Amino acid sequence: MSTQFLAIGECMVEMAPTGDGTFAMGFAGDTLNTAWYARKCLPPNWTVGYYTAVGEDNVSDQMLSFLKGSDIDTSAIQKRDDRTVGLYIIQLKDGERSFAYWRSQSAARCLASDRAHLERVLGRAGLIYFSGITLAILPDEDRTAFLDALRKARSNGARVAFDPNLRPRLWEDADTMRACVTEAAGLCDFVMPSFEDELAHFSDPAPDVSADRYLAAGAGMVVVKNGPEEVICATAGSRQTFQPKPVSGIVDTTAAGDSFNAAFLAEFLISGDVAKSVDAGAGLAGRVIRHRGALVDCLEPAQAT
Ligand code: AMP
Repeated sequence: MSTQFLAIGECMVEMAPTGDGTFAMGFAGDTLNTAWYARKCLPPNWTVGYYTAVGEDNVSDQMLSFLKGSDIDTSAIQKRDDRTVGLYIIQLKDGERSFAYWRSQSAARCLASDRAHLERVLGRAGLIYFSGITLAILPDEDRTAFLDALRKARSNGARVAFDPNLRPRLWEDADTMRACVTEAAGLCDFVMPSFEDELAHFSDPAPDVSADRYLAAGAGMVVVKNGPEEVICATAGSRQTFQPKPVSGIVDTTAAGDSFNAAFLAEFLISGDVAKSVDAGAGLAGRVIRHRGALVDCLEPAQAT
């Protein structure tokens, strides 16, 4: 099997308030967060790649430099001279964060427009990771082509992992979101939802119901996260639950699910052991949420095995 972990989606410029009226520029995005943590968790014989599209401008170059500096392979990323990267600004009011986005014309929305390139890139990966946000930003035709390319890569031996990450505001309507997410889940080896989203947007009364719904759609294994509550790992023939250790001093739950997914998948790719994988996922997420921000350097690089 190929030892490339490939995450696909949109990385954005993040402008975060510094407290003195200025903003600090960083880079973030759900799939990028998972790639970043996967690089920390996987042994050096695995490469971690990120696939998206960016512009040909200075800010896009800075994003690529950031990814390369994080030991993430950027060689497949497409550059377009007619677009640039998306951006969001975090605003703080009375301690509450709110987000304003400029992403509707971002380059990442074109990541599936070159079908031949997309197929080549997916064809090299051992594990392909994407999310509901990856799907949401694609035009309809490109979304269909993206799912076709995933099916083809999977039939050639790649494994596919998906976090539904339900964000209705990115979709034309909630029914389309539910239909596309269900179709995508059906072609995945791992579907990794957070129950909070599934409750809100599929009205699932309990995490088991989310697991059953994605299994019925065709998912191989469903891993349902639920904040401090039990994690469910279900396949067609088995169901296990695991209680994450309590975490004290939580300051910011940003990227809890993204980091969980990275550590879970990294462990599963190496050991194939579900209990160890949940332990790794919950362990990393538990450390991440004790710090502010999405990308928290709280893990030593993995050793070669
Ligand atoms: P979520 O996506 O919010 O369900 O969280 C993903 C994972 O982060 C969970 O499965 C837990 O391992 C961890 N996590 C999130 N919130 C908490 C919390 N309040 N206490 C302990 N672990 C948490």
